[in-house]
Amino acid sequence: MSSATEATIENFTRAARILGLDRKMQTRLITPAREIKVECTVELDDGSIGTYIALRVQHDRSRGPMKGGIRYHPQVDPDEANALASLMTWKTAMMDLPFGGAKGGINCDPTRLSDGELQRLTRAFVEGVHDVIGPDTDIPAPDMGTNATTMGWIVDEYSKFHGWSPAVVTGKPIALGGSLGRDSATGRGVLFALDNHLRATGGAVGDLTYAIQGYGNVGAWAARLIAAEGGCVVAVSDVGGAIRNDAGIDLKALDAFVAKEGSVASFEGAESINADTLLTLDVDVVIPAALGEVITKHNAQDVRATLIVEAANHPVTPEADVILEKKGVVVLPDIYANAGGVTVSYMEWVQNLQRYRWDEDRVNGELRIAMAGAFESLQTTRQKHGCSYRTAAFVTAIDRVQQATILRGVG
Ligand code: NAD
Repeated sequence: MSSATEATIENFTRAARILGLDRKMQTRLITPAREIKVECTVELDDGSIGTYIALRVQHDRSRGPMKGGIRYHPQVDPDEANALASLMTWKTAMMDLPFGGAKGGINCDPTRLSDGELQRLTRAFVEGVHDVIGPDTDIPAPDMGTNATTMGWIVDEYSKFHGWSPAVVTGKPIALGGSLGRDSATGRGVLFALDNHLRATGGAVGDLTYAIQGYGNVGAWAARLIAAEGGCVVAVSDVGGAIRNDAGIDLKALDAFVAKEGSVASFEGAESINADTLLTLDVDVVIPAALGEVITKHNAQDVRATLIVEAANHPVTPEADVILEKKGVVVLPDIYANAGGVTVSYMEWVQNLQRYRWDEDRVNGELRIAMAGAFESLQTTRQKHGCSYRTAAFVTAIDRVQQATILRGVG
């Protein structure tokens, strides 16, 4: 069992106990609704035939069509896809979006496939699943190894079977019905989550110092938006290394450097530091925005920040959670803190169904409202049960899903 699966089961079980769910309901909520396995056969550029296995786990549809990423990766495995699909159910429910959860992918190494091969593979996948995905059933999105281009191919292939259907996926190119504001949405959601927590506890984004692990889409946007609010980003890292400047990193200069050099490492406006120390720097807030399981039982005791905002998925392990809680370190959990992306994906789907484009200010404004509404639910649950934000997020989400399940008469 993967550690993502173990963590999901542990968080689910804790919340289910608080809610007093009986065994029958627990089994119903944790078991995926449908698991699909498709063999995709494509002609490769050298004339040979390649066969790839694609998976799609559709976890829960009690609150609406299912939603979740599709990744192209050599380690796509059913167990992990299951755990990630259920996490999407809890994330969409936490945000009160009218969706359930799904996840999937194709077992392949996308870096070894040409654009033409990737396109043929994507089309073969759609041919295999087009009757079980769709705007009203299951709406994929980009994940590791896939991007807006992949989504464009899916729209095209799916539309051959079902007529023009941009709402079958989100994360599309703008020219094919993608939403303005989607690019910055997850980073912006991180800022709103942080801001909501700080307002509730008498703090302000602009008064604090930050260390951010990962300077990709999410980390870089979070950094820019936090700095725009006056926050002092003193350290960032990427796969190439980590840098620090206690006076605050000049992010405009850093962006120009990264655009040229491809990494934050050796940026002249900061000193290089050991990447492992970034998470335990003496800052107010640490934002892991790269990988899962980076704060574990081995380094949780050394964390000096008082707040961790989970921009990545599953960066803090359950064992680390226990240590951090004892130390009084607050963790804003991934299913709330990084839900800005799926929330704006929902807005993309709404715009596609409306055949109407919203301007970027409207998208950002709606995201602010959604993050504030979700925070209110989180706070209410947290105060009612005297628990952590993470447990409160799972309790809120699972309660919504079980209510929908019961109301649909299948409980
Ligand atoms: P990305 O590929 O754009 O960026 C990832 C960044 O992490 C890169 O800067 C990379 O160099 C860095 N990185 C990789 N390994 C590292 C390491 N060992 N140490 C430090 N940095 C490292 O990806 P992204 O879209 O920014 O996603 C980041 C995380 O957020 C992922 O966990 C992803 O699942 C999660 N997430 C993303 C979205 C989204 O909308 N993009 C939504 C929800 C969650």
